[in-house]
Amino acid sequence: MKFYLSSCLPCDLFSIAEVKKIAVMRREQVVLIFANREKKINVLCGKTCEHEWAVIPSVNIIIEWIIKKRTCYHEVLLVHNHPELPWHGEIIPSEADIISTEFLKWQLALLGINLSDHVIISGHKKLSLKEYNLNDKEYLKVNGFEIKRFLYCFLAQAAVFSHRYSSTINSIVNYLENNLDKIRDYYEKPAFLRIFYPKPQDKQFKAKISQLKTTDEIIKKLINLLLAIRDDKNIIITPEKIIPYGLELQKKIIAGTA
Ligand SMILES: [Zn+2]
Repeated sequence: MKFYLSSCLPCDLFSIAEVKKIAVMRREQVVLIFANREKKINVLCGKTCEHEWAVIPSVNIIIEWIIKKRTCYHEVLLVHNHPELPWHGEIIPSEADIISTEFLKWQLALLGINLSDHVIISGHKKLSLKEYNLNDKEYLKVNGFEIKRFLYCFLAQAAVFSHRYSSTINSIVNYLENNLDKIRDYYEKPAFLRIFYPKPQDKQFKAKISQLKTTDEIIKKLINLLLAIRDDKNIIITPEKIIPYGLELQKKIIAGTA
C-alpha cells in the first residue's frame, strides 16, 4: 500500500487550507485529512476548544461524516497545532498526543482506515510522530484490555446502525460499560498490588455479545478476534489485522446495510 498522505509531506501539507489556518492559530485544533483509494482528499476539522488541548473527533462523528460523504476512505493523516513552543523552539509531543494517536489508530482500523501519521505543526515547523516514535517502541505498546475496549465500542456502534439489534443494544452497552470499568480498575493497579485484589471475571461477555445475534460474517469474525484477546497481555494483534474487516464494515455503513 502506498502512503500518499505521508509522501505529500512536507510542503504539500501546508498547501491544505485547513492546515495552513491552524498552523498560526492561538488555540489547538485537530484536522483529519482523509484519502480514498484514488488519493482524493477530504478534510474534517475538529472543534476549536476553550481548553488548551485539541480534541480528536469521536468515532461517532467520523462515522457520521463518512456516511455524509458517501466515500470509502483508506487513509487518514492527523494534524494538530501547538500554539506555543518551549524555549528551545522544538515541537515536543505531549503524552496525550502520543496516547490519543494510539487510540485513533485502532478506532480508524475498525473502520478499515490506516492512520498514516500524526503531524504536529507550529508556524512553519512540523514534527512527524511516526518518525519521532521510530526508535522508541515503548509508546506503541497497548495491552489487550485497551484493544478490547475499543473493539467493544466498535461492536456497539456497529450495532447502533441496525435497528435489528435495538432491543438488546442498551442492555449490552450498559453491561460492557460496567464490566470494563471493573477490568480497568484492576489493570490500572501496579502489578504487585493486583495480587491483593480478585481478578474481575468477564464470563458473561460471550453470552451478552451473542445476543447481538448477528448473521454478519464480518462482525462474527471480529467478535471471535475479540474473544481471543487476553486482558493482561500486551499487543498481540495489530491494527493492520483489523483493517480488512473494518473496510467491509465501512462499506456496509456507507451502503446503509451494517
Ligand atoms: Zn499536542
